Amino acid sequence: MDHPRTNNSFRAMIIPLVISITLQKIPSFHAKLTFLLSPQAQNSPKMPNQIARVWARSLIETNCHKYYYGESIDRVLAGESEMNSRIPVKIVLVFVVLAILPIVEVEAATDYRTRDQVITDFLAFEAAYPNLIAHEIIGESVEEQDIYLFKIGNASGGIIFVDASIHGNEHATTETLYHVVEWILTSEEEPAQRIRQRNYVLVTPIINVDRYGISRYNAHGVDLNRNYETGWGEFNGANRGPSPLSEPETQAVHSVFLTYNITWYLNLHTGDKRISPPWAYQNGVPEEAVHKATYDKYHALSQERDVKTFPYVIASNYAGGTARDEGYASGGAYTYCVELNGELKPRYRRITNDMVPKLITLTITVCQASEKEQPPEPPPPPPPTEMTAEDWQRFWTWLKQNPPGWQKTDWAETLESQLQHWKAQTGTTEMTAQDWEVFWEWLKQNPPSPIKNTNRWAPVLQEKLEKWKTEYW
Ligand SMILES: [Zn+2]
Repeated sequence: MDHPRTNNSFRAMIIPLVISITLQKIPSFHAKLTFLLSPQAQNSPKMPNQIARVWARSLIETNCHKYYYGESIDRVLAGESEMNSRIPVKIVLVFVVLAILPIVEVEAATDYRTRDQVITDFLAFEAAYPNLIAHEIIGESVEEQDIYLFKIGNASGGIIFVDASIHGNEHATTETLYHVVEWILTSEEEPAQRIRQRNYVLVTPIINVDRYGISRYNAHGVDLNRNYETGWGEFNGANRGPSPLSEPETQAVHSVFLTYNITWYLNLHTGDKRISPPWAYQNGVPEEAVHKATYDKYHALSQERDVKTFPYVIASNYAGGTARDEGYASGGAYTYCVELNGELKPRYRRITNDMVPKLITLTITVCQASEKEQPPEPPPPPPPTEMTAEDWQRFWTWLKQNPPGWQKTDWAETLESQLQHWKAQTGTTEMTAQDWEVFWEWLKQNPPSPIKNTNRWAPVLQEKLEKWKTEYW
């Protein structure tokens, strides 16, 4: 779960029931309610009392007490008669049913694999499809376990990155992702074939390898989804770690952001059902048009494929240091936090019947949105050797209108302000061809804020210049 406000309704029901039964020691219901709502109970430091008090009050406020105790409860509450202290049959029945449910759940959830089994199964894909899938180790966890990155499809295709189990207790995400990868590798459906040909799908099945299936936090007790650089420490994110990127697991994923030219990034969770764009650490959605338009395509595709959809929910302004904000700000990718299912650990057939088809649909959408354009027919270029100042000016105008796929919305303004900054610094007024050359070299070394990825910035600019020269010069 990525969002702190989601309730576990199951637990919310079972706790009051258990308390209601233990409280049968108090001789009458009237006395019980009176006690729970009394100043002594208000001051009682014991947590069970506080919960029971809230429960008792909510029972009365919602009229549910009549359901449990019958109409006579009003007279009891008014002090006109005493309540029989016997446990009402209805409560016993509900309690028994609720007590059995978790056993059924546990039974049905035994298809979940261990960490080692998951990795073994991914490596088996490699053995079976050596031309389609490979891996690298992107880092080691606190307890020195390898963190894997599997790379699927065409290495020169449009890149998407999907990671799972950043929260170790949300390992249904890993199981879901496994089946999506299986679909990409094996399906004869046209969208799967197209992904294999035109995309490079990067997958980290388990980030929190030390506490897989056990805990939200890593072996240092850190919430990895609060440990990234972007907005770290905003909203006092609990368990965010001693400093940004203090954990080896977040460092490993961060290295993927910086190494690969990722167009779309999906960060998977369970505990809720929704798709959320950045920002988490502040208000608003950057490049909202792209994030929303891609969601709309996903929604339409879901209807075409007759698959249920996740809602699009802007969940901003509540946590710093999250993966989705980091993927956008330092990875230069469009990002979604994807909450796959309300329950953290659903029954396995829910994974295969519901979560997998949904994630496949989303994967198709972002893969198609990341596809590289087909390379244009190379026109015979009449190559003059030097660009004139006029050429540079034409290129500059073109560049401002043709941002890279991951650009920020104010691309043109950002570039122009870099130029003005350089002119002011060097006291230049009229740009000669030579000035342009010098400025161009300077610009490659000085990416504008908030782009941090200097390794990628210069190649991107150079690629733009080459493209312009080939097509328009
Ligand atoms: Zn989570």
